[in-house]
Amino acid sequence: MVLLSLDIGGTKVGWAIVSGGIGELSISERGSIPTQAFDGGARVAERICELAAELVERVDVDGIAVASAGVVDPQTGAIVSATGTMPGWGGTALGDLLREATTKPVWAINDVHAHGLGEAVLGAGRGFRSVLTCAVGTGIGGAHITNGRIVFGDHNLAGHFGHIHHHFAADQPCSCGRTGHIEAICSGSGITTWFNSRSTDAKVNNGRELQDLAESGHELAATTFAQSAYALGEVLGSLANSIDPSVVVLSGSMTRSGQTWWSEVRRGYRASAMDFVADLELRNGELGSDAPLFGAALYYYSRENN
Ligand SMILES: [Zn+2]
Repeated sequence: MVLLSLDIGGTKVGWAIVSGGIGELSISERGSIPTQAFDGGARVAERICELAAELVERVDVDGIAVASAGVVDPQTGAIVSATGTMPGWGGTALGDLLREATTKPVWAINDVHAHGLGEAVLGAGRGFRSVLTCAVGTGIGGAHITNGRIVFGDHNLAGHFGHIHHHFAADQPCSCGRTGHIEAICSGSGITTWFNSRSTDAKVNNGRELQDLAESGHELAATTFAQSAYALGEVLGSLANSIDPSVVVLSGSMTRSGQTWWSEVRRGYRASAMDFVADLELRNGELGSDAPLFGAALYYYSRENN
């Protein structure tokens, strides 16, 4: 089977021609266009349909696999809702629009779910039965994949791991409108805001600057950085206690924060994880931005072959 795989984010729309059977998928051609999200959902959908129609015209594909930002209905491919980074994206009947534009079968899922499925089956989680994935970037989200299948939940919203409480985050405002969630102290944007709210001298613009400051010997920067990673580890340990994974796979920009970050995440994890999951591995994702493209393709296969 040959598929056109799309990865729709707030900044760009990545695409790839994915072929091969499950377990040996490969990408033969790829590209991307800017999303220009602030043009609004209708214009963005139009642009994506034009791109898909053009590619389907040129390459003989069996169907279209989509990973998209926002809450996606995995039955229809409709975008149920989306955050402010893609205004008007929620309510877009993306699946129907793509089917009309290309006359091909279309299966779509959320991009974080797709990322998790890609890593679980073809990346750092391959060979494991129960995979807990967590992407720690501007925000925090993840997935639980068992036997190669995403646990969607009743509202297709499972995996909002950023919105788990941690006492270090007690009064920190979260992107969801509540307070005390780990996204407010462990994501790239969260840790930045958290540090700035505690610091009376230095201020930083992003997680990278905070890491540099910590490494230059700034005590509060180092403490904040370590506490953030430790808190994330504790939450992952608590999650592991609840869902019993075989392995934990971490990806996203914060995983490139260096050794201190990783060792504090692992220390926090071991402090919170119960004996049956205490020794499992915390791995770094292997597929990078290919993960959602592969994950979407895997989901497509699972639907078309059933
Ligand atoms: Zn929250």
